[in-house]
Amino acid sequence: MKDEKKRYGMVCLVGAGPGDPSLITVRGRELLKACDAVVYDHLASQELLSETREDCERIYVGKQAGRHYMKQGEINRLLVRLAEQGKRVVRLKGGDPFVFGRGGEEILALKEAGISWEIVPGVTSAVAVPECAGIPVTHRDLSRSFHVMTAHGKEGEEDCLDFSQLASMTGTLVFLMGLGRLEKLACELVEAGKSSSCPAAVIENGSLPDQRTVRGTLADIAGKAKEANLQTPAVIVVGETAGVDLSGLPERSLLPLVGVTGTDRFCEKMEGELQRYGILTRRIGGLSIRCRLKEEQEQLYGRLKDYTVLAFTSANGVELFLEGLLNQGLDVRALSHMRIGAVGEGTDQALRQRGLRADWIPRQYTTADLARLLAARCGKEDRVLIPRSADGSRELNRILDEEGVVYQDVPLYETEGKPVDASLLEGLGCMIFGSASGAEAFFKGCGEERGKLALEKTAAAAIGPYTSAALKKRGCAVRLEPEIHTIKETARMVKDFLRIS
Ligand code: SAH
Repeated sequence: MKDEKKRYGMVCLVGAGPGDPSLITVRGRELLKACDAVVYDHLASQELLSETREDCERIYVGKQAGRHYMKQGEINRLLVRLAEQGKRVVRLKGGDPFVFGRGGEEILALKEAGISWEIVPGVTSAVAVPECAGIPVTHRDLSRSFHVMTAHGKEGEEDCLDFSQLASMTGTLVFLMGLGRLEKLACELVEAGKSSSCPAAVIENGSLPDQRTVRGTLADIAGKAKEANLQTPAVIVVGETAGVDLSGLPERSLLPLVGVTGTDRFCEKMEGELQRYGILTRRIGGLSIRCRLKEEQEQLYGRLKDYTVLAFTSANGVELFLEGLLNQGLDVRALSHMRIGAVGEGTDQALRQRGLRADWIPRQYTTADLARLLAARCGKEDRVLIPRSADGSRELNRILDEEGVVYQDVPLYETEGKPVDASLLEGLGCMIFGSASGAEAFFKGCGEERGKLALEKTAAAAIGPYTSAALKKRGCAVRLEPEIHTIKETARMVKDFLRIS
C-alpha cells in the first residue's frame, strides 16, 4: 500500500520567478493549479498561492535572512513524507530553484528516498531584478559577462568572497543576499583595486509594485541605501552596467493595469468584466460588509404585512435581506403583497437570481432617482421598507421626506474599509471606485494625501455621481463616469479609455 502511494506521490520543484506573480512559467502555474500540497517560503506571492485548489495543503517553511523557520533537513524530510503519503507536491521557490535556493539538496533527498521529481526552471532574480530596474547584466562595449554570487557565507564564514579576484573582473557583479553587508562589500572591492567611482545599484523588491532602486558608485552606494532605508529582498549590482538605465515609462504598458476598490461583490464583478477585455486588475483595499440586523430581525420580518413597497439600493441589500427572510423560516412568498423598487440593473439582477423581479427601476441608476420614482409611484396608503447600508446616501431620506412618502429606512448592514497597501497604487492606468463609501474607505486606508497623489498620477473612474462626489470633495478629478451607472458600462468605458478594442 505504501509503495502504491509512493509511486503516485511526487515533488515538483518550481521556480516562482522574482516576485511578480505573472513572471512564473506556464508550466509552473499549471502544476500549482493541480497539486495536492504546496511547500513555500517567504518570497512566494500570495497571488500565486491562491492559484492552488481550495483543498490544497499550504505549508510555510519560512526562510528569511537570519530567520530560519524550518531547517533544511526538516524541509527535505517534509517533502519526502508528503510524497510518501501519495501527494503531488509543488515545492515553490523564489526565482530559479537552483540559484542559491538549495534546490539541489532537496532533489538529492528525494533521490535517496526513491521519490520521483520534476524541475521547472524559474526566472532568476539575479538577472530579472536588475532588468526590471533597467539594468542589463551584459551590454555591448560595457560588460561581456556577469557573475552571480552570494555575499552571505555559511555561518562563521565571514569572508567567503575573494575580493582581489572580483575586483579584477570586468563583467557585471551581481550579489544576492548581500544588503546587510553592503558597506563592507563596497569597501573591500575598492580596497582590492576596483575604482571607487565604479557604478553600483541596489534594487529592493524587484518586479513588485513597490520596487525601489538606489543608484550610486562604490564610494557612496552604502550610504545612499541606508538613507533610503532599503530592505530585503534586494539585489546589488556592481559594474559599468549598473550605470545604465533602460527602464520603461511606468504609465505605458501593453497590458494596462487597473485598480479596483469597493465591496467584494463589486470588485469580483468588475474584475471579471475587465478581464474579459484582457485588462489586468489589482484589488486595492476594499470594503467588508457586516450585517447589523441580527437582533431586530424577528421584529422586522414579523411586520412585513405593514408594508406595501420594498425598495433596494444595492445587490448586497437584496442578498442580506433575503438571507434573513430564509433564516426566519419564511421565503419570497412573504413578499407577494409588495411591489419592489430597485436602484438599477445590478440590484434587479440580484432579485432575479432569487426568483423576484423589480417592478420599478429608475431611468438613471442613482439613489436620488429611485427616491423620486418611489415618490411618484406611491400613494398615501403606501408604506415603503428600505433595507440598505447604514452609510447609504442621505439624499434618499431628504427626497422622501420632502415628498411626504411614509417609509422605514432599515440599516441592514454597514461597510468597513479594509487596509490599503499604498505601494499597490504605483503603475495603475486607471483606478475604479464602486461606491461613495468605497471611496471614503480608500482615502482612510491609504491616507488623504497619498490617495490624492495617487489619483493625480492615474485616471479615476467612478460608477456614478455619488461616488464622483466623494472623490471631487477631496479635489480629485474624475476622468470617467458612465451615463448608465452599471459595472458593465463602467468597465466598457475604462476599456475605451485605455484604447483596447
Ligand atoms: N533562487 C532565487 C534566489 C534565492 S536567494 C533566485 O533565483 O532569484 C534570495 C535572494 O534573492 C534575496 O536575498 C535577494 O538578494 C534576491 N531576491 C529574490 N527576489 C528578489 C526581489 N524580488 N527583489 C530583489 N531581490 C530579490
